[in-house]
Amino acid sequence: ESLITMSKIEKTYKLGDNVVHALDHIDLSIEKGAFISIVGPSGSGKSTLMNMMGCLDKPDKGKYILGGSHIDQLKDRDLAEIRNQKIGFIFQNFNLLGKLSAVENVELPLLYRGVKTKDRRARALECLNMVGLKDRAAHLPNQLSGGQQQRVAIARALAGEPQILLADEPTGALDSKTSEEIMNLLTALNENGRTIVLITHDLNVARKAKRTVSIRDGKLQEGEHI
Ligand code: ADP
Ligand code: ADP
Repeated sequence: ESLITMSKIEKTYKLGDNVVHALDHIDLSIEKGAFISIVGPSGSGKSTLMNMMGCLDKPDKGKYILGGSHIDQLKDRDLAEIRNQKIGFIFQNFNLLGKLSAVENVELPLLYRGVKTKDRRARALECLNMVGLKDRAAHLPNQLSGGQQQRVAIARALAGEPQILLADEPTGALDSKTSEEIMNLLTALNENGRTIVLITHDLNVARKAKRTVSIRDGKLQEGEHI
């Protein structure tokens, strides 16, 4: 069953007389339960594709269907709602709020959805438990190691039970041992049925996924081509 279907997606940027084809006729289908990495060098179009996939931006041309919703046809207002419902984001720099504890950070997406206080706390603790950090619930981000902060961010991404986890260079700020731990955690989450899309410039990280596609000059190709 296809969770994501992109067909003939185009995104261009105009800089004076210069036209950059950031995404050039992208065709991509991602199954429910997939663990896919999108690998490419700097400037290849990864961020543009991530923004598109994460419903932060719409294509200039082409079709994008996510979990049955025609994203390319939505109004910007409805785009935000789909994004909050369907997507859990994981970033390179964790993006945790420094004044909130680990558990409060994980609760945030549930707060935005209007989940009751008590249910929020219970769900957030459950998610911290999934990433092996239940005993760090009251810690502030700066009391945690980088790897632990990324685990909190992963717990936050899981909190709302999104259809897809979208991870943008999740190991980019971590040393190699911690990177491996984070990749093992993502692998375990995938084995439990979660769909994961990983965006990276690092082929060693990309190879941990079950499927790899390469992007270069806005064009996508199945497999490793770096
Ligand atoms: P990556 O994430 O792989 O580094 P990007 O998606 O950021 O690649 O960029 C793809 C191409 O689009 C690059 O040539 C980049 O310079 C260009 N680009 C990205 N964003 C903009 C923008 N807002 N305005 C103009 N050009 C852009
Ligand atoms: P790791 O080996 O997982 O990267 P560290 O060696 O950085 O972890 O940290 C070891 C332990 O010390 C962690 O369990 C973490 O909770 C705690 N810790 C790390 N940094 C701080 C800090 N700035 N303040 C308080 N505790 C910290």
